[in-house]
Amino acid sequence: MTGRSIQWSNGTWVVPDNPIIPFIEGDGIGPDIWRASRRVFDAAVQRASQGKRSVTWLEVLAGEKAYRAAGEWLPDATLETIRTHRIAIKGPLTTPVGSGIRSLNVALRQVLDLYACVRPVRHLKGVPSPMKHPEKLDVVIFRENTEDVYAGIEYEAGSPEADRLREFLTASFGAIIAPGSALGIKPMSAEDSKRLVARAIRYALSSRRPSVTLVHKGNIMKFTEGGFRDWGYEVAREQFGDVTISEAELAQQPSANGKRVVIKDRIADSMFQQVLLRPDEYPIIATSNLNGDYLSDACAAQVGGLGMAPGANLGDGHAVFEATHGTAPKYANQDKVNPSSVILSGVMMFEEMGWSDVAQAITRGLEGAIGAGTVTYDLARQLPGARTVPTSGFADAVIAHMPGSQTA
Ligand code: NAP
Repeated sequence: MTGRSIQWSNGTWVVPDNPIIPFIEGDGIGPDIWRASRRVFDAAVQRASQGKRSVTWLEVLAGEKAYRAAGEWLPDATLETIRTHRIAIKGPLTTPVGSGIRSLNVALRQVLDLYACVRPVRHLKGVPSPMKHPEKLDVVIFRENTEDVYAGIEYEAGSPEADRLREFLTASFGAIIAPGSALGIKPMSAEDSKRLVARAIRYALSSRRPSVTLVHKGNIMKFTEGGFRDWGYEVAREQFGDVTISEAELAQQPSANGKRVVIKDRIADSMFQQVLLRPDEYPIIATSNLNGDYLSDACAAQVGGLGMAPGANLGDGHAVFEATHGTAPKYANQDKVNPSSVILSGVMMFEEMGWSDVAQAITRGLEGAIGAGTVTYDLARQLPGARTVPTSGFADAVIAHMPGSQTA
């Protein structure tokens, strides 16, 4: 193998001109969309760098392919390879039933401590949308990725664990819980909430976005969700006091005095209304795990749906970029579905690596293909007059519309 590993030094990536990037092809539609996306990535790197840079793609196994090859859903070798090379990209994986692993994605995030799930949601020109002004939504959602009800501490109704826990809570704290209830635990810590919010603020500063909104349900869950809000304001004051100001402070003084980022907070239910009515007031959202899950799909729906929604799971020194939709098994191996979610995850990956020229080439190619009405079936059914192409044909169209090609 000719490439070199990406390194992490003093809190930043050190990216060689020929990085090795592990990929998980994914199950179901995964192979189709990965094949198409990889061609787009290689063409963009080649054009943007005029052949001076290249990616050495390294396949690692997970999901059904790993199970068929080695009898394991998530082999240690896969985790080790990602740990070594630091940045990886993946297609969707089947959630195995009854194998002892709740979800491969959740396992990957927890094992590599990828604590921030980052989902930028913005409208690409030409993509059909149910909104009158989809271009007003341009938000980056930072969702805490390791805690909350996703921590997996849950007991079945009628199980001895649930009954014992109920007895303890009733006897020790006077909690009122119906007999035979299922019970789940929602752990949320200052440490994990603060590192997530700090990451969102750093991103606001580097991308020159003017505010970070903490989204929570602290009016009801005062210590978990309310804690998230309070810890968010705390970390803003403690670590970024010279560059941030709270919305409440700003209301009491005539100007922000050079502070570049306003910290606001909103209750989760009202936030669903805000992203519909006044989306342009929310360039960055930082939120807990479950709120973030709901909000990111709701925002994605405004700009073209899940087929167009990229995502990244980021830790300190490790990152895994991924399509946010599932494996859509009924379309497997039909060369039919939309590869844009993986392609846009690649855009995020190249931006994170500092290869913005590559990211821009891909975005221009995507906008060009969609603008010309050359799209896969999912977008074609909402775009009158569009030409439906297969997954591979869509990749051809994206490449043809990149800067430097004859169509562009
Ligand atoms: P899904 O795979 O996301 O598919 C649901 C529907 O979404 C599809 O039938 C299709 O709708 C549309 N769709 C999804 N991807 C598309 C694409 N690339 N292009 C166009 N349309 C697309 O959801 P699911 O059927 O509920 O889940 C299937 C499996 O995926 C499950 O095992 C689940 O656990 C897993 N999953 C994995 C991930 C992940 O790895 N990140 C995430 C979610 C789910 P139409 O048929 O209406 O066109």
